Amino acid sequence: MNWEPEAGSRKLEAMLGLYLHIPFCSSICNYCNFNRGLFDSALKQRYVEALEREIRQAGRGEPADTVYFGGGTPSLLEPADVERLIQACRQAFAVAPDAEVTLETNPETSSVQRMEEFRAAGVNRVSFGVQSFRDPELKRLGRLHSANRAVAAFGEARAAGFDNISLDLMMWLPGQSTGHWAESVDRLIQVGPDHVSLYLLELYPNAPLRDEMARAGWSLAPDEDAAEMYLGGLGALDSAGYRQYEISNVCRGGRESRHNVKYWIDGEWLGFGCGAHSTRGGRRWKNVSATGEYVDRVAAGGPVAVDVRAMTASEQLEDALFTGLRLTEGVNIASVGRRYGADVWGRFGAGLQPFLDAGVLRLAGERLWLTREGMLVANEVMQVFV
Ligand code: SF4
Repeated sequence: MNWEPEAGSRKLEAMLGLYLHIPFCSSICNYCNFNRGLFDSALKQRYVEALEREIRQAGRGEPADTVYFGGGTPSLLEPADVERLIQACRQAFAVAPDAEVTLETNPETSSVQRMEEFRAAGVNRVSFGVQSFRDPELKRLGRLHSANRAVAAFGEARAAGFDNISLDLMMWLPGQSTGHWAESVDRLIQVGPDHVSLYLLELYPNAPLRDEMARAGWSLAPDEDAAEMYLGGLGALDSAGYRQYEISNVCRGGRESRHNVKYWIDGEWLGFGCGAHSTRGGRRWKNVSATGEYVDRVAAGGPVAVDVRAMTASEQLEDALFTGLRLTEGVNIASVGRRYGADVWGRFGAGLQPFLDAGVLRLAGERLWLTREGMLVANEVMQVFV
């Protein structure tokens, strides 16, 4: 894998990624802080129309090689909706014939037939939000599926012909011990996905899960257990033949998430739908967050971007270093420096040196990367850039 841009310029072959936000869910999980709401069939229909219109208006035939349906729960869309949106992308942009087209899916919405229909619609990668393979943990999170349903959903996607399937797991759940976490990881390895994302549960200040934890007396394991879960989970995945390529992501058979990698290699993407973010040509913007307002604005032919910002070269440099360090390959500080006209070591070397001395960060030639232990303190290291 070589994600490094050619010296001094953007990687010439880097194409746009297209992100489509689908803000509907069957129920709201008690820890979720994403931009989402309860499914409403009439609103969904108007939303799909608005999304299609936004995509058609934005595209100028530029090359793109990924389409990512994220949410929310994109698998609540009908396969015909998904097909229509993929078609809109293909007509408005020059979407590569072999583009990666991902659908985030919740296990309770899956069946072989539905998966076959999504595949026929043009989806070629499925990402299941499994979160845990232990039913008590799934219940605590307010998830609608059981561990067995998640295993069945994976089998349904394989039976439908998907050869690129990702599973998400969350660690450091309320009442979860390191042993419980290891059980989930073992079950995941038995299931055998092509790609795995491991996330730490982050409880935002007013999450309903906080109240439920207080009422039921569930606590989070100590911080050192979170570190043990992270290292233990990655160690088990290493032994099973997976290769870590980013702080939270591993894969096998070259199945990195082509779309998500764009976020870490200083790439460019366009986000469509309510609350979606875009980064292109040194500018960043965000669409209006509320679903109804987004639909109304598109219907009225008005702009949906609400927060457009031109990034300074310095901000782009910081961002490229900050996100690039998430990759196990790290960043090439010379080429990033040339791209933004800066001497990276001259500017950040003094701040980075203590982490190099501590062995959590490495520098070899022009390449700077975090060790696995360093990934545990990634936030502290990245503070150097902001
Ligand atoms: S399914 Fe996902 S997006 Fe929807 S409420 Fe649950 S965590 Fe949030």
